[in-house]
Amino acid sequence: MPRLPPLPAAERLVRALPNRLALLIALISFGCIGTFWAFALFVVENIDRQAFERQAAFAAQGLQENRDAVIKGQEGSTVWSDAVRAVRQGDMPWLEENFGPWMYSYLGFDGSFILDADDRPVFAMFGGLTRPASTYGLYADVISPIVDGLRSRMTRASEGLDDSTGAVADLGFTDYRLVGGVPTIISAKPIIPSGDDLQQRPGTEFIHIALKRVDAATANRIGVQYGLEKAAVVPSTRNERPTAVPISRENGDPIGFLVWKPYQPGTALLQRLGPPLLLVLVLGGLTVIVLLQHSRRSAKELARLAFKDQATGLPNRTAFGMILEDLSKKASHGEGEFALFLVDIDRFKNVNDTLGHPAGDELVRQTAERLNEVAVSHSCELARLGGDEFGLLCPAQTDDPAQIAELLVAAMRSPFVIDGQQVFSSVSVGVRDSRGKDKSASAMLREADIALYEAKARGRSQYRLFTDELQSAIAQRSAIEAELRASLASAASGLEVVYQPIVDGSRQLVGAEALLRWKNSSGSHVPPSIFIPVAEERGLISELGNFVLDQVCALLVRSDFPWIAVNVSPIQLRAPDFAEAIEKRLAGFGLLPERLQLEITETTLIDDDENSRRAIRALVNFGVVLALDDFGTGYSSLTYLKKYGISKIKIDRSFVESLGANDENDAIVSAMVLLARSLNKTVTAEGVETEQQFSRLVAIGCDQIQGYFISSPQPAEAALRFSTQTVDDMGGAAQPDNIPLVEGKAAALTSDAPVDGSRSLAGGARYR
Ligand code: C2E
Ligand code: CA
Ligand code: CA
Repeated sequence: MPRLPPLPAAERLVRALPNRLALLIALISFGCIGTFWAFALFVVENIDRQAFERQAAFAAQGLQENRDAVIKGQEGSTVWSDAVRAVRQGDMPWLEENFGPWMYSYLGFDGSFILDADDRPVFAMFGGLTRPASTYGLYADVISPIVDGLRSRMTRASEGLDDSTGAVADLGFTDYRLVGGVPTIISAKPIIPSGDDLQQRPGTEFIHIALKRVDAATANRIGVQYGLEKAAVVPSTRNERPTAVPISRENGDPIGFLVWKPYQPGTALLQRLGPPLLLVLVLGGLTVIVLLQHSRRSAKELARLAFKDQATGLPNRTAFGMILEDLSKKASHGEGEFALFLVDIDRFKNVNDTLGHPAGDELVRQTAERLNEVAVSHSCELARLGGDEFGLLCPAQTDDPAQIAELLVAAMRSPFVIDGQQVFSSVSVGVRDSRGKDKSASAMLREADIALYEAKARGRSQYRLFTDELQSAIAQRSAIEAELRASLASAASGLEVVYQPIVDGSRQLVGAEALLRWKNSSGSHVPPSIFIPVAEERGLISELGNFVLDQVCALLVRSDFPWIAVNVSPIQLRAPDFAEAIEKRLAGFGLLPERLQLEITETTLIDDDENSRRAIRALVNFGVVLALDDFGTGYSSLTYLKKYGISKIKIDRSFVESLGANDENDAIVSAMVLLARSLNKTVTAEGVETEQQFSRLVAIGCDQIQGYFISSPQPAEAALRFSTQTVDDMGGAAQPDNIPLVEGKAAALTSDAPVDGSRSLAGGARYR
């Protein structure tokens, strides 16, 4: 079975919004977090690097100070005349006292050696103990290149001099070497006099060598001084770590490293900020999730509000428009036909006005339920288009649209119960099938609406299919409208009022009914059953009505008709000043209200329009007789008669026609007459064509008789004649043959009359 399109695209779009939003938020969040993280890492790294650079500078400074301290300490003992004397004399006790353990304990030198001019060791101290001078041999390999370096510089500086003291005073050679695997400062300096008291020939100088190991204790001291945690010295081979300062020889070769556990303030900050940051992230994430859930609910709600009717839960006009648009596009591409139904509750305004708006809403709701049952069972989509209007879309299927429309109308047949009250209601349906015609949504809607209008105009509680015939009927009506307007504009040319006499049981003229005739521009007579509804529909009826009233009043002034009855359309009565206008017109012509009767139909009363009710009451009070036309064809409710003070009914021609055909019909007519008379109403029978009908109706108790048997409607002049004839004879006994009573005569009149007669006879029968 063909299916309707699912939720309209827009609804899906609205519902998908939160997901898109979620994706967007996630992307933005990840982007933000990523960027933030990268930035944070960059900053942390930078801080850490700067901190390290500062620490490295401190470490280097510590090493430098350590080295400078060796040189300074050594200088204090080597620029000393007493020392020169002591080394020259080989004064061991003096040397031991001033270059021995004291240097270990006070200056922190691990070793102290003195070499003579030929670089032979003359004194040795190591590890705080004075050692045999030969101990130097253990270190000679490492130390002698340094001593050689110093010597060659001294030679160059003091070349050609008698005394080298001034030239070599500032010379010294300090460098790092590995001693026993430990980076060690080795500093060599000449021992020179501190004053002019002594002189040294170049090449005779003694050399002092100081050894100081850069070991754990040194590292620790530097660490304490400069705040380097876990400072240590490691040999060069084991160290590739960047957090180190090299301990390098003069030639640039690192022989070890000062290392420490770097203080990383950035990382520390990150570690401290990390947990709260994570918490904020988690909370933020949770908030986003909650917000998203909320917005998902909101989106769902939004979709519901935007596309659903709140009262009935049905799709609303917007949703309907979308589905229709979709279906009509598909149909245009040959992807399946469908039918559009417009459903409207009849006289909904009445329900609202009489039972109140809550009851009206309830009726709409219950109607929606009933219609939806039909819709669901045929795979159709029902929507509420507003107020009392519904739309139905059915995909093409085996069921004929007419069948579905019939079911929709039938669904309303049983009464509704609203507030404990029984309420009868009905719907009118306009149908437009997409097959073989313009399938655009707008055309579908417009033409379904025309069909709906037709169904309403034809009396409601029914459906109409939009067809080519309907289309041409509408075109025809438009043509009639245009011609009617033209007639009215050119001094009512082609319009004429004819008069049909009405007699009593003894065939005495009692009055006449005015009937409008119209000859269009091409000269053909258009029956009132055709042009009156067009005039009503197109807003011309009041103008036509006024034309008739003027003609009638003019004739009343000139004639002796006791009264003339004029047909009044429900639309005329709804005009707010209708009664006043009648009163004014009668006064203007100088006529008594009794001389005018107005024929209204039951629809006027059923419509229950406030203005109409007021007009009827005012007219009755004023003294105009109101007659209920076509009685028996509608609700035939006698309560209306009482309620509005209507004093006359006109039994419809259809009852008169079938009089004598069966007993049942006769019984109905008798009952109507009896009831009306018991209510003190005058009863007129219309469309009396035969003697038998006449006598039977009179026998039943009809007060007045109208029909071809008496006379067909006559033009004003002819009417004038028989009105005066009758009045002339009224002084004496009423003579039936004073007016054209017999069939033959009526027929003669009929055929003579250019604007009525046989046409009406035949035409009337056809058009009623
Ligand atoms: P109606 O008010 O029921 O008028 C009576 C109709 O029955 C008239 O048709 C009349 O010509 C026709 N008729 C009279 N006697 C006989 C008869 O013995 N046999 C048959 N078969 N028909 C008979 P008409 O003139 O065609 O008018 C049709 C309807 O048009 C009227 O029905 C009335 O409702 C409406 N109408 C006519 N003139 C006016 C008017 O001036 N204003 C309004 N609002 N409606 C009018
Ligand atoms: Ca009438
Ligand atoms: Ca009638």
